[in-house]
Amino acid sequence: MADPLLIVRDLSMTFLRRAGLFGRRTHQIRALNQVSFTIEAGETFGIVGESGCGKSTLARCLLRLLQPTGGSVRFDGVDLLALGDEEMRRMRQRMQIVLQNPFSSLNPRLNGFDLIAEPLRTHMELSRKEMTDRVASLLAEVGLSGEFMSRHPHQLSGGQAQRIALARALAPNPAFLILDEPTSALDVSVQAQIINLLLRLQRQRGLAYLFITHDLSVIQHISDRIAVMYLGKIVEETASEEIFADPQHPYTQALLSSTPMPDPASGGQRIILPGTAPSAANPPAGCAFHPRCSEVMEQCRTVFPAPRHTAPDHQVSCHLYDHAQ
Ligand code: SF4
Repeated sequence: MADPLLIVRDLSMTFLRRAGLFGRRTHQIRALNQVSFTIEAGETFGIVGESGCGKSTLARCLLRLLQPTGGSVRFDGVDLLALGDEEMRRMRQRMQIVLQNPFSSLNPRLNGFDLIAEPLRTHMELSRKEMTDRVASLLAEVGLSGEFMSRHPHQLSGGQAQRIALARALAPNPAFLILDEPTSALDVSVQAQIINLLLRLQRQRGLAYLFITHDLSVIQHISDRIAVMYLGKIVEETASEEIFADPQHPYTQALLSSTPMPDPASGGQRIILPGTAPSAANPPAGCAFHPRCSEVMEQCRTVFPAPRHTAPDHQVSCHLYDHAQ
């Protein structure tokens, strides 16, 4: 069996923040703490967690827009952290990102043609006619007509702008897309259209997706597997249907209890978490979730729970499962 397209092992990212008079003191902010996962070609891997849990830092570390402070990232057999800047720039043709707010990611001075042609010009030598045909074909792929070539971002709806951002990301023919909250800024009906578009593009192009969101209901239908992140760590990972059928980590259970279900009769009691997520600058000792956990035990306050397999494809980091392998 072929290796996964993306292999992430023990990825860590620690920022140093200056504080105090004249910035003489430094704080360490551990945004990512030994994050490991794999993504197969053509698969969607969802990452869910509250704002500030490290999801977007993870996206930037995978693309080396931030330089991780530890761990490894292999993409299609290549060690990304060992690449020089020019090699990494070329590698990013195959690894693209789509951000939450298309209006902040699209240059307002460029029209649809130039927005989509820009990455093509960077990576390929095409005649004007070839370029126009390519842009028209990419627009058609994302469900837009040729008239969008002349429109600027301020003339687009949120959904149309996100389709242009997608066409731009697809232009260099990537194998892997990082989708960082791609539907969060859109109306619910438009969200469904973009999710359906992503599913169709994945079928047609065999794309792998890393879908990052704070909202479990959004990734329910698109993800093959889901990882739940809390304060820079993955605390639970399993198949998408399994996370909804049998959430095991107390944090996952709380997230799920606040997710609207299609069948309200199937829902249980909503779990209200006390307080807010602690700061990565000052994380609690032991299990970082312990100040908010209703199941907290003495060892949770001092000992970090190691990841355990509670089933072959279900991994949880919580002392409630210390008996598992
Ligand atoms: Fe709760 Fe302890 Fe499990 Fe952390 S390790 S989630 S505090 S039971």
